[in-house]
Amino acid sequence: MKILSLSLFLFLSIPSYAKINIIASSQDLKSIAEYVGGEEVSVESLSPGGFDIHFIEPRPSMVFKLKKADMVVKIGLDLDMWTDSLINAAKNEKIFYGKEGYVDASAGIDIMQKPDKKIDGSSGDIHIFGNPHYWLNPENGKIIAKNIKLGLLRIKPEKKEYFEKRYSDFCRKIDDKMKVWKSDMSAFAGEKIITYHNSWIYFAQAFDLQVAANIEPKPGIPPNANHLSFLFELIKKEKIKIILVDNFYSLNTPKEIANKTGARLIVIPSSVAGENSASDYFSLFDVIIKKIKD
Ligand SMILES: [Zn+2]
Repeated sequence: MKILSLSLFLFLSIPSYAKINIIASSQDLKSIAEYVGGEEVSVESLSPGGFDIHFIEPRPSMVFKLKKADMVVKIGLDLDMWTDSLINAAKNEKIFYGKEGYVDASAGIDIMQKPDKKIDGSSGDIHIFGNPHYWLNPENGKIIAKNIKLGLLRIKPEKKEYFEKRYSDFCRKIDDKMKVWKSDMSAFAGEKIITYHNSWIYFAQAFDLQVAANIEPKPGIPPNANHLSFLFELIKKEKIKIILVDNFYSLNTPKEIANKTGARLIVIPSSVAGENSASDYFSLFDVIIKKIKD
């Protein structure tokens, strides 16, 4: 009876002609939600592309958007913890933790670099629940899409066939593109790389690269002189040729390292809309891989 009245309530709360209003915390999640939801959804992202998602500043306009949302899609772990206070402030029960409109996109993802012991975030540490940059492995895009699909089915179960088809199309497109991307990246297989922030291990996992070190000594902590000399040594010793930097970081230190060592600096978007040509989840990888190849 309870289930019946709940589904009746859901059915009544979203008329079949109305679009499901989705608020995503990132442009990547927005893009995937648009693929899976098609004409049944309207999606907005709380963060613009080309910004560090760790440090998005909550604003009243975001609370206003969440008040009207039917669904929220979060990256989860500690990357977009700033959405929690916004969701509380919006007082919209539909998107509360555990409710039908709450989607944690990380569910079912094999999270890398989970700490052995609990890290106290008060000392400025980030990545305290493991590495949250999982969308940069396209295979994980399929799990994100599945989590979003499950959310859509909770809200509009009568559109099951539609959402299932769009979800399978998305997965098929990832599989097709993966063949092209892997072949483009095959020349770099096994290559050791340096990255600015620890945001590329899932990308490295997908395309058989090895992240030898980060320019940040710890995630979120800027480099110091000691760490720089360690990097100079390491790059020379290991003959590392590639330094990957998300395009919102200052390039001063990466340029200095590249100049001193001869390694090539590659500046890339790490999110959809991080630059104009990375307009959706698929073109994001097209852009990243093209820049590495060139
Ligand atoms: Zn991070």
